Amino acid sequence: MVSPQLIWYTRTGLYRAKRDLCSHNRESITVETPEKQNNKGFAQVWTGQTAASILGTIFWLILAVTLHPVAYGHLAWLVSIATLVSALCGLGLGTMLATYYPRGQSKRLLSTSVFITLLSSIAGGILTAAVLSLWVDLFLAALVGLLVVALSMFAITFYSELGRRAYSRYMWMWIGVRTASLALPLLFYFLWGTIAGLLGGLIAGHFLIGTWALRFLVSGLDFSEVRRRTKFTIRAWGSNLAGASLYFLDKILIGALFPLGMLAVYQFNFRIFLLLAIVPNALFFFLLPERSGGGEVKRLERTGTLVSIGLAAATFFLAPCITSHVFPGFREGIDTLRIMGLAIVPATVARIRSSELLSAEKAAIVLGSNLFGLAIGITCIIIAFVQGFGLIGLAVSMLASQLGLLGGLFLIPRLLRFGSSGRVVLSFIIVVVASALIMSSLGLISPQIIVRDERVIGTGVAMDTQVVIQVMADEEAEIRKAREAIRDAFLEIDRVERLMSAEDPKSQIYDLNSSGTEWVELSSEIIYVLNRAKEYSILTDGHFDITVKPLVDFWMTEVKRSGKLPTADQLAGILGVVDYGGLIIDEDNDRARFTKDGMQVTLGGIAKGYAVDRACEVLRDAGIQNALVDIGGDIRAIGPESWNIGITDPRTRGRILGVIELQNSAIATSGDYERYHLIGRERVHHIIDPKTGEPARESISVTIIAGDSLSADALSTGVFVIGPEHGKALLDSIGVGGLMIDPQGQTTTSEHWHYDIN
Ligand code: ADP
Ligand code: MG
Repeated sequence: MVSPQLIWYTRTGLYRAKRDLCSHNRESITVETPEKQNNKGFAQVWTGQTAASILGTIFWLILAVTLHPVAYGHLAWLVSIATLVSALCGLGLGTMLATYYPRGQSKRLLSTSVFITLLSSIAGGILTAAVLSLWVDLFLAALVGLLVVALSMFAITFYSELGRRAYSRYMWMWIGVRTASLALPLLFYFLWGTIAGLLGGLIAGHFLIGTWALRFLVSGLDFSEVRRRTKFTIRAWGSNLAGASLYFLDKILIGALFPLGMLAVYQFNFRIFLLLAIVPNALFFFLLPERSGGGEVKRLERTGTLVSIGLAAATFFLAPCITSHVFPGFREGIDTLRIMGLAIVPATVARIRSSELLSAEKAAIVLGSNLFGLAIGITCIIIAFVQGFGLIGLAVSMLASQLGLLGGLFLIPRLLRFGSSGRVVLSFIIVVVASALIMSSLGLISPQIIVRDERVIGTGVAMDTQVVIQVMADEEAEIRKAREAIRDAFLEIDRVERLMSAEDPKSQIYDLNSSGTEWVELSSEIIYVLNRAKEYSILTDGHFDITVKPLVDFWMTEVKRSGKLPTADQLAGILGVVDYGGLIIDEDNDRARFTKDGMQVTLGGIAKGYAVDRACEVLRDAGIQNALVDIGGDIRAIGPESWNIGITDPRTRGRILGVIELQNSAIATSGDYERYHLIGRERVHHIIDPKTGEPARESISVTIIAGDSLSADALSTGVFVIGPEHGKALLDSIGVGGLMIDPQGQTTTSEHWHYDIN
């Protein structure tokens, strides 16, 4: 299994490790009682892991305050790719070594494993560099390729030492690798000031220690030794990857489905969980070779389990106090943290049990259980999303995946003991879990419709966000009608999404964007939306401007890629093609064109609102009286019924600024949601000020209440750019209610805002 620490990155060299290599590590162990050896060995593994965690955290913290957030994100992305590929290139050989070397102490097994890792990581590195060079420049891609080799070599080096039960060397290696990976990248960055320098430092740090394994190569190669263990190795590899996915996939999935702010709270709690997870990880890395070598481990297992229970209890009781005092911004995540803390107990027992099964050569069971836990985790995340269970749902998913893993580790061997009937039960359980996974995934494609509290509620995913449609209905016939109407409304939202997309080569907007200055025929529906957009551009004096697309793309891709803030010249170049006046709309002939080459439009600031309006229209046409349509926070109510809508505080997640009653009108909020992720001085987000060419800085959140969703959506984006002072004047002049918050947290409301907000 891959430890979460491992997932970060790796490598560092240290003279101390060198000294260790000279002294024969096992010597010092033989003179002590087995129990003392045990305690000492474990303490060393634990120290190594703890130091690695702390030094790793310090490294990323320093970068977080030094680098531009975009560069930070870019580096983290490149390092995660290298880490993932290096886990793939490891082929499970490390776990195999830690299991089999303690038995036969075969030097050739060691040397051959190191050799294969070297080859596979070079192949993986070259492939990564080649694929990556499609997105980043060749030099950077080559560095990531090298990092793959460096990380893989470090991994096989520390596994070799584990296999040799040289725990003190293992400890110094981790301390060494993390110290060098802290010092060298920062030194190189200081000298050259580039991401490449940081990567170079990480590579050097990891090679410094990773190349030590090459000394084993002198023992000569013997592939038959490794071949005999192929089955075990492949299964161990599978378990490693499935185990690592438990730590990776959830975040990728959550990032794709949930708002970034939620991912931030989850990620924060997950970092705390990783600190607690040092206990199970150290146990695993110590127990595997120890058990395989015939060591006595029962007492340590018991102590480890007790410690994990203590940690879970401490987290449960201390979380409210510590979080609200030390990290008040994450107060919303207290219960999440408590639940995630509980997961440390199954995680610990699972790690102990995995080491037991692996040392008994039962890698298939470990693999099966990891996949089982993974399937349960993913299913729960999807259910949490579709059902709107939020953060608590995510924490429960994580606990469930650990319990699933643990359940698998104990249940599978027992069931298998019952022969064919056991297999039948096992197959049944697998089918149930697989179906749950498929069914919940279907919920992402087609809307889920349930009836609750005299309401028919449809939930689904569209326009990259969660869609909820609620219809009041209590009689059987009405409920049937509502179901039908909700389904049609979802289809309508999908249609609008395809129609308004700038990325889909089949869409008319795509045609327009790639037309240069030629006329492009457009449907009257698109002409209508373009005209409405233009209306808001004029109203906001060009602060709302759909021709801002080249700037949005530039900030979201180019700036990310280079990791550097753009120069004034660069921005001036792009600003030249941003001008709503340069979009000529010929309403009589249903066509439009740009006046300058390179101009492009994005309907990102208005399309959701339009889709909400269209969905409401469809519901009305179906005879629905009272309904609420919500596409990722762009909400509209139709009918006499009034609906309570909470407005979240953009500064303190989870706090509600106030609740407003929405009746026959629409509400939309534009916010700077990434603010928790951005630690540097610059906030980079997706609403761009067309006047400066930079992300808008005057507001952190703007909420607008208007008659229809399109207006609310366009105005929320436009007023966000204008800022509270001029935004209020504008809203007052057109009689629209708005709530604006500036970066200092100061709240401004327009004259027509009739709600109490604190
Ligand atoms: P969200 O989509 O997060 O609800 P908004 O409704 O404010 O946020 O829309 C943001 C989107 O609008 C961006 O992704 C971009 O496509 C587009 N956009 C960014 N800046 C502007 C602008 N100044 N005028 C019009 N559209 C913009
Ligand atoms: Mg908007």
